[in-house]
Amino acid sequence: MRGKVKWFSREKGYGFITDEQARDHYFSVQDARGANLPASGDHVQFQSQDTSRGPRASGIQLVARSEEGRRGDDRVRCGHCERKMVPRIISYQGVVERSVCPFCAETYRDFMLPPSTPLWRWVALVVFVLVVFIGC
Ligand SMILES: [Zn+2]
Repeated sequence: MRGKVKWFSREKGYGFITDEQARDHYFSVQDARGANLPASGDHVQFQSQDTSRGPRASGIQLVARSEEGRRGDDRVRCGHCERKMVPRIISYQGVVERSVCPFCAETYRDFMLPPSTPLWRWVALVVFVLVVFIGC
């Protein structure tokens, strides 16, 4: 059957799909097929099974990415291995230190640079421009 991802948490590893009859189906990250993880608003195809806890989706395949999902695509190209990736955030005692490429583990962005370096200013400018343009 077909449905739309109601929400999915990458952190928790589970979410819900709403089918065409407006029934919610639980799914976990292991139920998704392919390299692309489902994101909120995506259209998917799946099998459903009734369990004691309610309907559960399996064999989830992406039919179409949502517009929302495309706008929220936070993948970037790693400057080291050239692969498209979502940087992994490395934090120490609650302070974000840097982000790394999940494939080659090279540092993508170092958040601990002293605030007076030109790179920091450049990053701040880019972030500012992004916030202004995407925020509205
Ligand atoms: Zn890399």
